[in-house]
Amino acid sequence: MEYEAVIGLEVHAQLLTRSKLFCSCSTDFGGSPNSNVCPVCLGLPGSLPVLNERAVEMAVSAALALGCSIRETSIFARKNYFYPDLPKGYQISQYEEPFSDNGFLDIELDGVTRRAGITRVHMEEDAGKNVHGVGGDSLVDLNRACVPLIEIVGAPDLRSSAEAATYLRALREILVFIGVNDGNLEEGSFRCDANVSIRPRGEARFGTRCELKNINSFRFVQRAIDVEIARQTAILDAGGKITQETRSFDPDTNQTKSLRSKEEAHDYRYFPEPDLPPLRLPAEFVERVRKALPPLPAAVRERLLAAKVPAATAQTITQHPAYVRFFDDVCTRFNHPLKVANFFVNEVLRGAKAHGLEATFTVTTEQVAELLGLVEAGDISGKQAKDVFAAMEGNAQQPSAIVEARGMRVVSDASALQAICEAVVAKNPSQAAGFRSGKLGLMGFFVGQVMKETKGSGNPKLVNELLERILKGG
Ligand code: ADP
Ligand code: MG
Ligand code: ZN
Repeated sequence: MEYEAVIGLEVHAQLLTRSKLFCSCSTDFGGSPNSNVCPVCLGLPGSLPVLNERAVEMAVSAALALGCSIRETSIFARKNYFYPDLPKGYQISQYEEPFSDNGFLDIELDGVTRRAGITRVHMEEDAGKNVHGVGGDSLVDLNRACVPLIEIVGAPDLRSSAEAATYLRALREILVFIGVNDGNLEEGSFRCDANVSIRPRGEARFGTRCELKNINSFRFVQRAIDVEIARQTAILDAGGKITQETRSFDPDTNQTKSLRSKEEAHDYRYFPEPDLPPLRLPAEFVERVRKALPPLPAAVRERLLAAKVPAATAQTITQHPAYVRFFDDVCTRFNHPLKVANFFVNEVLRGAKAHGLEATFTVTTEQVAELLGLVEAGDISGKQAKDVFAAMEGNAQQPSAIVEARGMRVVSDASALQAICEAVVAKNPSQAAGFRSGKLGLMGFFVGQVMKETKGSGNPKLVNELLERILKGG
């Protein structure tokens, strides 16, 4: 029988706040175990949670970037379960009324763009960490308890492991780009559970799913899903039934194995968190967050491609919001996107340093725009532009002042260039004959020779015109 896979991803992303979701403890992981804890995140009786406003802003900006609607009122809920890393005996999450729902993510695979639904984005706190095998003991580190997370619940819209991996990459790109998450799968600040089921091709109903827990690399996500699809296919082909359960993937054996039967929502005895009031997100707050969002990478890439910027260059520029800002700012002063894009990637980026949402550059957007303007006007050659660039890095000098001071301004004096061009043609009679017999490509050779003579300072446009006249006339 031929089957179709149905996949929905649940992603937990850690928000890049400095303090925890419901207390002022640091979210730093460097410290020794249990150094960033207080009565609230230790779950001591009588302590009360206070919601971190910065976390709410980040969560809302993520939801907006994913096209979600924001609910004006949402409710925190207690999700009750027992585990040593959860001293309160419950996790504060959102359940029936999350702060956002109904978004989407566009994923591009093999040149085709598909839209995958995002069912909801909600806020919740992380649990602590059990550390096993310390001198035969298991210990608990609660530094991570109460660190703010968003859970992004994807709709069961994905149909292959490749689509799932693409979805994950696109999601990570957005969260990192808008500065709410560091995108680190290995360290667990971006974690993914994959729900996988299969159904006979053409069947409208979904099959029974299994949930693959905490897969910590893109490569493993794709492999784990493929392995799980193969396992389910073998069961159905043999006339068996899939049991709904939670499974883990072992990359060493390349197998998924059962962890536990899937818990149902009612097992958690969710109820509204009595220690927190309903969360109200007034429209003005949401609008303020929306306005602060940078243009998203996919939209910027589309705009760049439309301006004929090569895909790889567009990809590089959209790696960081500060790159996009720099690029756009140069374009407002010198509106030639392709030229700006190439110069940015080849020259400017070499001196750029990104940190968080900001980046530092060795030159200003004004300097770059003016420099490219000088090239465009034919005042300096592209080769000279690189020298001027090197000379203006790290100082506020105007490119025109550098050109002037170094006597770089190209020779646009026709009579001076005329003599040089004539000499070059005279020195290369066989190439001249070749050009005249139709090998027009030799023009490049002649221009090159003249540029060598003028040490790159001949006005290229003028040199071309003069050479053409001399070669055709002679
Ligand atoms: P739960 O409350 O048990 O976590 P949800 O309905 O919230 O279940 O779904 C969780 C995830 O499972 C979502 O990402 C969703 O897309 C995915 N999912 C639901 N049903 C299926 C299915 N039949 N096959 C694959 N994925 C599914
Ligand atoms: Mg779930
Ligand atoms: Zn604390």
